Formats: sequence, C-alpha cells, structure tokens
Amino acid sequence: MKRPIDINKLISREGKRPSETAIGKPVYLNKKKRIEAAADREANEEPTAVENIQWIKAGNVIKNGEAGTSHKASGTNIAVHAQKNRSKFRFDWNAEDDTTGEDGPVVGRKVKVAARKSPETLEEFYMGKHWSQKTLDEMSERDWRILREDYHIETKGGSIQHPLRNWTETSSIPMEIVDIIETKLKYLEPTPIQRATIPNVLDGRDFVGIAATGSGKTLAFLIPPLCQLNKTPPLNDFTKMDGPSALILAPTRELAQQIEAEANKVVKFLHRPTKVVSLVGGHSIEEISYSLSHGCDILVATPGRLIDCLESNILVLRQVRTLILDEADRMIDFGFEDQLTTILTRTGSVKGRQTMMFTATMSSTIERIANGYLNKPAYIRVGSQDTKAQIKQIVQYLPSEEQRFSKLCRDVLPRFGSPVMIFINYKRTADWLATKFSSETRYRVTTLHGSKSQEQREHSLNLLRSGKADIMIATDVAGRGIDIPNVSLVVNFQMCTSFESYIHRIGRTGRAGKSGCALTFLTERDDPKVVEELFHYVKTTDTEGINDVEPSVRQKFHLGRNQLQPIVH
Ligand code: ADP
Ligand code: MG
Repeated sequence: MKRPIDINKLISREGKRPSETAIGKPVYLNKKKRIEAAADREANEEPTAVENIQWIKAGNVIKNGEAGTSHKASGTNIAVHAQKNRSKFRFDWNAEDDTTGEDGPVVGRKVKVAARKSPETLEEFYMGKHWSQKTLDEMSERDWRILREDYHIETKGGSIQHPLRNWTETSSIPMEIVDIIETKLKYLEPTPIQRATIPNVLDGRDFVGIAATGSGKTLAFLIPPLCQLNKTPPLNDFTKMDGPSALILAPTRELAQQIEAEANKVVKFLHRPTKVVSLVGGHSIEEISYSLSHGCDILVATPGRLIDCLESNILVLRQVRTLILDEADRMIDFGFEDQLTTILTRTGSVKGRQTMMFTATMSSTIERIANGYLNKPAYIRVGSQDTKAQIKQIVQYLPSEEQRFSKLCRDVLPRFGSPVMIFINYKRTADWLATKFSSETRYRVTTLHGSKSQEQREHSLNLLRSGKADIMIATDVAGRGIDIPNVSLVVNFQMCTSFESYIHRIGRTGRAGKSGCALTFLTERDDPKVVEELFHYVKTTDTEGINDVEPSVRQKFHLGRNQLQPIVH
C-alpha cells in the first residue's frame, strides 16, 4: 500500500514565505505532484527510533553477504560493525556448528510498516520483551541469541546448552552452593564464561573454554565438580584410597594454590566434608603424602609434580571423573605437552571421564590436544573486548634503567594507588630495583622470581594482597593466572621476550570490571618481532582511543603498516 502524503506538504504553498505557509490553507496537488512528494519524503526520511532498534538487532543476525543494501546509514553501520565483531572466532567452523546463525533475519516488512503506527509498543508486540524481562519459559531462540550477543558468547560444537541467566533459575546448581556464592563470596551474577560453561559441563559435555584473564574461569570450572560431589557420599576409609574425583592441572604452583584457595572459599561452607589438596613443587614428598593420606576430592597440581607423585606411588588416580586443564596455552608454552599427554593417558579412557580445557588464547596445539583427548567438546569463546578496553596501554622509549626508575618515582607512581606490579626479566634486575626502591623511596616493595623458595613466594604474594607491600617486582612467574585484586598499574620495566607474556602480564590489571593501566618501557635491544607484535596489539585493542605510543618510540622505530624495524645507530 502507498504511504499517505505528509500533511506539511499538503498544507504548504510553494513560493510563499514561511509565516504564510505555516498555517496556510491546504492546496490541491495533482497526481504527478502527489507521487513526487511521496517519493521525496521516502528518500529523505530518517528511520524511526523503533526501526533503529530493529536494525540494531537485525545487524546482529545478518550473515555474510546478507547485510542488505536498502537500509539507511545508521543501520548499515551497525550491521557492518556486528559482522566485523563476529568474524573473530573462526577456527574450523562448520556452518551447522554455528549456533549464532540458527534463525533467519528477523526484520520483516510487517514490522517496519506497523512500527510507524505505534512506536512505543510495537517492539513488544512483534519482537517481545527483552530477554531479561522474560521468564525462562518465554525465552525464544532469538532471545537466547541476543543474550549470547550481549555477553559476547560464541559457540561451536553442536547441541550447546543455553547460558545461565542467573544462578538459580534452572536449578542446575544446588541451592546450598548458590547460597554460598551469593552470600559468602558475594558474586551476585555469573560472569559470561561462567554462564556459558556451567550448563554445558553439567550436561556432561567435554569442554573447551576460551576467555581472557580475569573473566572468572576458575569458578566456572570449579562449580560443576562441586555440584557433582554434592550428590555423592563423603569419602570413607575405602574410597579415600582411590584418589581424587576431580583433578585440576595448572602451569605454575602459584596458580595451583590460587585455585585451591578459590575452591576452599566455597568448600569450607559445604555440608558435605569436601577436601581440596594442591600438589606443587616446593612441598616435600612427606608433606604431600601426609596431606593425601586423609583422602582428597579435588586435587590441584602442576603437571611435573603430579607425575613425580604418580611415579613414587604416593598417589593413585583410580576415580578421576573430571579432568580440568587450566591455562592450557601456558602449559604448552612451558613445554608440558608430553607431561599432559602422559596424565591424560593415565586418567582413564576419553569416554570414562569428562575433560575440560581453559585457555586465554587458542592455538593449533591446543586444538590438537582437544581433538585427541576430548570427546566431541563444546567450544565456548567469550569475547574479550570488554576486558581489553579496561586497560590503558602506554609505550615509552627509555633506554637506561636508571632513567626508568626515576621516571617511575617522579611521574608515574604518584598517580597510581597500590598495589602496582613491575615486571622484569632477570632476578638481578629485581634485586637491584628492590634495593633502589627501599633505599631511595618510601614505597614498600616485595619481589617474586624463580629463585625464591615456595614459602618466600607465598609470603611475597601475601604481602601484596594484604596491602603490606605497595609494589611487587616480579619475573614472568607472576605474569600468568595470579589474581591480586585491584592492581592499578602494571609496568613492563623490561619488555618480555615473548609477546604472549605481554598479554598475561598486563592482564594482572583491569580485572573483574576494574580499569587499569599498563606502562611498557622499550629499548632498541628489545626483539623487533616482539615489538612489532606489541604495536599491532596496542593499535588493534584501542577501541576507546586511550592507548598511547609516545613520540619517543615512534622516533626510534619505523612505524607504519605494522612493520617495525629498530633504527640501528
Ligand atoms: P581467570 O581465571 O579467568 O583469569 P579468575 O577466576 O581468577 O579469572 O577471576 C578473576 C576475579 O573475578 C577473581 O578475583 C574472582 O574472585 C572474581 N570473580 C569470579 N567470579 C565472579 C563473579 N561471578 N562475580 C564477581 N567476581 C567474580
Ligand atoms: Mg585463571
């Protein structure tokens, strides 16, 4: 049906002054003029607010090549933006795996025409309420898709369960555990990775979870085994000899102990006595054997130490139902691949256990392990844009370490609250810097590096966590997985030798919704390949326009087309 002519057009009189035309008498337009006026109006009209909403949502579901050409500028931009966003998770997708593409475009002519009549209610009338205002039963496939998009959840692997909308609704998590999470830990809502992981793992699927550091992966993988244990009787004198039912592997002892601590935060309130033990280097075999002698439900271990204990027969793994590899990418970086495969082989058949892998980055090695040792896993990736946007990255050229130190003390540290983490590459730099801070400033510093004993490392971490130290000077030992709340600033006093480490180092700040800052000092001695990757990353993650590569750096390195060569003097 043709659209009626604008009333303003009908009452206007060509050639008259505005004052005369505003309330002028209606004029009769002949058919030709009426058609011209209608075409004119069609061409100049901006979409209504409701149409814009439709386009925003339509933009989210438009698939490659379907973006359409007829819609107006704002809608097109959003659609293109959505397409750009979705093109990130593309490893070996089959079209049928992509759960975000199940439905066709949702905007029909009917909606657009009807929208003009009553803009306020039509969104509700045709499209329904927003998913957050619906009951679980009212949720349509389209609502689930919008929910996944709202939380940047992408899926692969077929038959993926819907994410959690909250802790309680599906009753999949026992109330006892929900109560602890809400009232003791005060986590009122699941994080996106927790929303996506828990239903799939409780469904019995093997699982690969990809999410940035600080996104809450630990609790995502701890809740399902805790739910499982809640249904089983406590260990008795016989079952305690069979080893843990959940085994979690982590690349470093600090991370293993952090996972143990996170698990204990929940376990200590459980009605069923549940034992969590960590198995890491630095504790003697006698100590380990003593802690295992009382039985253990959840064992958190580093791969090397676990194999030692298996070989010296102080541990058996006869009843591992759940095997979790945390920070899988780091374990591969650390050269644990062989140890991982040994453990994967010794914990029974692929089908007899449920295996999960969590990682911040995906690589072909991880996919190979997932294909070899996991049973048709569900892949979930949670977009990391939000986390990255929380960290302002600054890069400066400053060759001398003395200059870096005075720059920090004079200009940088006074602007940041504690705790601050300063990363260096060598133990001797850590000691030198710690001495300088202690003798020349009032900052309280602590150090963490590989030559420290286990006890000393734990002590250093506690000093920082408890606020007894303002600054931690650390090597990459602390770059990964360690969670110290509220780190306001990460300084790469020496740039790391692998770019991967950069991401993990700066991930110590800007966690759990807080913003943070990462300052990196460069010198021409830094590896040009790593520097090139750094610039590329700083540029591509700068969605908010907050990052800053100082002119000094631009002078020293040829920037442009991401090709960076240090200038040799
Ligand atoms: P990741 O393993 O992904 O790096 P962590 O599991 O260490 O992240 O969690 C990062 C921080 O977020 C921790 O301090 C943790 O206590 C907190 N956290 C976890 N889950 C939630 C939640 N649902 N709500 C609020 N904070 C949470
Ligand atoms: Mg973690």
